[in-house]
Amino acid sequence: MATYDFDLFVIGAGSGGVRASRWAARYGAKVAVADDDRLGGTCVNRGCIPKKLYAYASHFHEDFEDAVGFGWDKAAPKFDWSRLVAAKEKEITRLNGIYAKLLDGSGVTRIDGRATVEGPHAVKVGGKSYTARYILVATGGRPHTPEIPGVELGIVSDQAFDLPALPKRIVILGGGYIALEFAGIFTGLGVNTTLVYRQHLPLRGFDEDVRKHLAVEIAKKGIKIRAGANLSKIERKGAALLAHTDAGDTIEVDQVMFATGRSPNTKGLGLEKAGVKLGKNGEVVVDEYSRSNVESIYAIGDVTDRIALTPVALHEGMCVAETLFNGTPTKSDHSDVAAAVFSQPTVSVVGLTEEEARKKFAKVDIYRTSFKPLKHTLTGRDERTMMKMVVDAATGRVLGCHMVGADAAEIIQGIAIAVKMGATKADFDRTIGIHPTAAEEFVTLRDKVPDLVPKAAE
Ligand code: NDP
Repeated sequence: MATYDFDLFVIGAGSGGVRASRWAARYGAKVAVADDDRLGGTCVNRGCIPKKLYAYASHFHEDFEDAVGFGWDKAAPKFDWSRLVAAKEKEITRLNGIYAKLLDGSGVTRIDGRATVEGPHAVKVGGKSYTARYILVATGGRPHTPEIPGVELGIVSDQAFDLPALPKRIVILGGGYIALEFAGIFTGLGVNTTLVYRQHLPLRGFDEDVRKHLAVEIAKKGIKIRAGANLSKIERKGAALLAHTDAGDTIEVDQVMFATGRSPNTKGLGLEKAGVKLGKNGEVVVDEYSRSNVESIYAIGDVTDRIALTPVALHEGMCVAETLFNGTPTKSDHSDVAAAVFSQPTVSVVGLTEEEARKKFAKVDIYRTSFKPLKHTLTGRDERTMMKMVVDAATGRVLGCHMVGADAAEIIQGIAIAVKMGATKADFDRTIGIHPTAAEEFVTLRDKVPDLVPKAAE
């Protein structure tokens, strides 16, 4: 039997790669993980974690205003961008250290450098060659930008966290997760923000009611929306930038940000040398066990272009470790994955949208509510929360729950367990609510939205 330097060589020490490494080592495998950047990957260094910290930072603006309704004097504290950047940096450095400790504590060999695949069992890092029984590609993704003149004058989310100064005016292109999250962050921090997206509503693929509700709510926060538009050119004008739209007008700003999707990170990895099949976006094509067409090479996380979410990468990484080193072949389960967009207000969802459910099921019942949160009865803020439930009329099974509003992600995480377990509307109905909360609305939805499909057409 061939002997290798390692049982598993992981390329990429992001969320998925680190989890797979630790899990494999826990099952007794000899593991190495290579990365040429700080440990933790996108999520820790330039994604989920700094983004959520900045979202908290930006929300204080409203909290100070809202406090007046509860008897506090009007406060107008000043915001210092450089202090936020420094505080974020300190926390990220702490997390990098925790990742190093976790890997060291698990007996995983850390290799600092850019790895390339040299063959089905061979990897090279900084001129040194290693052999491995299995290779796991966990190299994530990178921002994708459109090919328009002047694109190099703009930034992507990687740079947004560490801008030398907060711009006064920004235009953000895109209507997805990153565009909406940063539009909320910049607006909350006082930046005059214009959001340009090419669809009629943001968040293509989300439930239509969610998309409509969010568009109304973010506009109330002061985000200027240019729907159904794209940027065609960026030009410098002194210290400012001119963002030209395809509608023929120009927006003068200090910064342009592209949040136009992310591409799998496979360029220059050498996967072709090993005969690994890549898809049309450059993603590693894998089966349900995250195995590529080459038996010894697996891939997890964003590089596979399945569901680009940290907890999904963690799950896929654990499944690979189970399959390869614990004798229990385990498929990744990508059904009913809950997700949140930390826009302001937050969107969080689990399961099917109404549109998806109507395609799959003969008849669906829709329950929906929209209300002013209790807190805003005193603040006077014009903000409404929306909740929606999609139910299979034949079985009563809850197919999807959707929410736009404060704490949506915290609420949907619990709801996701019920949906995953196959809970029915009747199960929700016999659950007694916690009063007064927004969450209780999910167990008190009584009135179906009238079905507009004409009887004759059914
Ligand atoms: P998304 O895929 O969410 O959104 C991309 C947006 O860019 C869409 O609105 C898309 O428009 C638009 N777009 C793409 N190409 C062009 C173009 N050439 N010109 C104009 N607009 C364009 O990508 P993000 O970059 O926001 O995020 C990447 C992924 O990362 C997300 O899908 C998500 O999986 C993950 N993520 C998760 C987060 C979370 O869990 N909270 C936070 C951030 C990212 P259209 O719809 O018309 O194609």
